[in-house]
Amino acid sequence: MMKFKNVDKDTIRSSNIKLIINLLFDKRQLTKQEISKETGLSIPTVINITNELIEDGLVEECGVAESSGGRKPIIVRFMPNSRYSFGVEVNSKYIRIILINLDAVILEDESIMLNDLFRLNESNVKDIFDEICKIIKVIILKRNIKEVNVLGIGFSLPGTVNEEKLLLELAPNLFVKNMDFHYIEEKLNMKVYVENEANSAAVAELRLGIAKDMRNLVYISVREGVGTGIVVSGYLYKGKNKRAGEFGHMTVEKNGIPCTCGKKGCWEVYTSSEVILKKYNIEEKSPIKSFDQFFKLLDEGDFKATSIWEEYLDYLAVGIQNIILIMDPHYIVIGGDISSYEKFLIPPLKDRIFKDINFFSEDDLKLLTSRFKEDSSIIGASILPIEKLFFINERIL
Ligand SMILES: [Zn+2]
Repeated sequence: MMKFKNVDKDTIRSSNIKLIINLLFDKRQLTKQEISKETGLSIPTVINITNELIEDGLVEECGVAESSGGRKPIIVRFMPNSRYSFGVEVNSKYIRIILINLDAVILEDESIMLNDLFRLNESNVKDIFDEICKIIKVIILKRNIKEVNVLGIGFSLPGTVNEEKLLLELAPNLFVKNMDFHYIEEKLNMKVYVENEANSAAVAELRLGIAKDMRNLVYISVREGVGTGIVVSGYLYKGKNKRAGEFGHMTVEKNGIPCTCGKKGCWEVYTSSEVILKKYNIEEKSPIKSFDQFFKLLDEGDFKATSIWEEYLDYLAVGIQNIILIMDPHYIVIGGDISSYEKFLIPPLKDRIFKDINFFSEDDLKLLTSRFKEDSSIIGASILPIEKLFFINERIL
């Protein structure tokens, strides 16, 4: 019996800390009386917990408010630079490493470019890991950060991820299998989190972005592959084998173009961002290198760019229609390489999606581009270590 009592006491205390820290994060600063009023907790409980948070450096006292009689109430404020977290995004072209504070503000931003001489493959995973560790150490030194104040490192990965085993199990675009991230955890003595890139991005939108506090959303990450992150009732939906959301590999053309996954006619073969430039550059004497160039041509009414874009949107719309029919979400958020070109993307895409679908109309859900554009996956990954501090992942009764 005693054991249960202790659990209850701890649970209540955790729940109270969660209430106060989340309130202070939202409101930035409040008097202890205001905290008590907003949370319904007694003044002694609030004092007790804020003292503990002050000791941890997460909040600090910052003066007094005007009193309506009696002692002036003490103001406490949230300290966004009291803890830090790293986010690392891995794809076939580069590895990007960021440092954020508790407000998810990017404080440092470094990249390792990958090319034919230094490419991620089965044989050089350790070299790549060493390079990542080196950059993280340099950032910690440069910023003069105490290692205990680094909450961890979150990895955004383009493939199927087992976050409990710290594995990137399968990533067809990276040519690696079962990449094990324990090496980094041991080498840096920091907690490592791994997550699929679309799931990471969905986390960013859910916690900080457009879909903040929305219950159901599907995030579509359009990059060299197409992945989706599914949020149901505020939780990432991963499925039994943690492989849910591989909509990029749903078949949109039976016997279509072969995909890196081994199947034919997968959605991502027609809708990855690579497709756009690749198609444009066929038989092109001066190939274009960036999306900016492509969308400029599109804006100028270039015939080739227009026909490529129209076909691209047709395929993108087919997949999104399927997703809407399956999920009926509040939000569909498009992120990745094309998300910065909203005016070319959203209006024509809406026309196509809702044109011949009887079950849904445009007003039934919101179709948007990501708030963080191409940063959403890495921001989402970097907030994974922070979530624990705010008790977001814990179900507290
Ligand atoms: Zn495929």
